[in-house]
Amino acid sequence: MHPETLAIYQNRPDDANAGAVAPPITLSTTFERDADGSFPHGHVYARTSNPNRNALETALAQLEGGFAGLAFSSGQAATLTLLLALRPGDHVLIGDDAYHGTPALLEELFHPWGLTYTRVDMTNLEAVRSSIHENTRLIWIETPSNPLLKIADIQAIADLAHEAGAWCACDNTWATPILQRPLDLGCDVVMHSTTKYIGGHSDVLSGTLIFREDNELYHRVRRYQLIGGAVAAPFDSWLLLRGIKTLATRVKTQSATARAVAEFLSRHPAVEVVHYPGLESHPGFAIAQKQMLLCGAMLSVQIRDGAEAAVRVAGQVRIFTRATSLGGIESLIEHRASVEGPNTTTPQNLLRMSIGLEHADDLIADLDQALFHAKPL
Ligand SMILES: *Cc1c(COP(=O)(O)O)cnc(C)c1O
Repeated sequence: MHPETLAIYQNRPDDANAGAVAPPITLSTTFERDADGSFPHGHVYARTSNPNRNALETALAQLEGGFAGLAFSSGQAATLTLLLALRPGDHVLIGDDAYHGTPALLEELFHPWGLTYTRVDMTNLEAVRSSIHENTRLIWIETPSNPLLKIADIQAIADLAHEAGAWCACDNTWATPILQRPLDLGCDVVMHSTTKYIGGHSDVLSGTLIFREDNELYHRVRRYQLIGGAVAAPFDSWLLLRGIKTLATRVKTQSATARAVAEFLSRHPAVEVVHYPGLESHPGFAIAQKQMLLCGAMLSVQIRDGAEAAVRVAGQVRIFTRATSLGGIESLIEHRASVEGPNTTTPQNLLRMSIGLEHADDLIADLDQALFHAKPL
């Protein structure tokens, strides 16, 4: 079955009580035992499992082609729980422009705990190879990357990881399983901030890990999810499962609109460069063609006249909303460097956009009038 069908067909509720077509939400934190002490429905306590979370975890695993999924209360909680499966003394390799929260976990939480890490340009396979140490246990890929949309070759990096006896993880938040399936390309685990495209409506904070096979890594993380306790709530799981049913349609439409916006921006005189992997001028174009179905709905632009001009342009949009985050049905724009703070390596004249479900012509007209303000009046 295609993912569009799978998302709907496999997620029909099995509601013996009422025959509900949309799934009920089970808020109960505890579940009744039989007289013989068994748990006839398989649930004991809501931190261990809950019907809504189970349904979500199964749906996520199916979409990514994995063995099992685990749902967490945020993307960061998912990443944190995966890193806990490493051991003090282990080394992690991570991209030089990964989502800023991931290196923050490595630096502020796990460095004192005993992990070391190296940041490397994941588009440079030689640099990746030479940064692998004897104690490297995890290579963390994020592609397209944030905010420069650099494209890493997932299969090549997964191969390098496995040659070195390391696990390979991919933050697939920006691509979604509709556009890119890292487990098929050799990764051991996929992470999502499901806050973004999978939820899709900017109203639920959550994250997931999806594992390729039933291995030691999965069992450690499953155990730490349970004892660590940062699980996805029943209502959040319900919202996410609803989001999954429209994921393919949303992402394909949003990607097509993003391409149109990127093409418009690449011809605009106020724009210095557009970072969108679907443009032939993008350095990752060939690898994106190889490993992605479409190039996604995120893009960044650098404004020719510098940081102040970029902030002026963001200040003039009417249809776009000035806000951080991504993946919702509404288009967002942000001056990324000021979100990331003083240690950022993001260019100061960069605006990041998340393209929503509005009509491409309206978004382009909005940017066109806003870009008029790139030059001071
Ligand atoms: C948002 C985001 C995260 C963090 O997820 P939260 O749900 O905010 O905790 C991680 N990686 C990427 C690529 C993201 O966009």
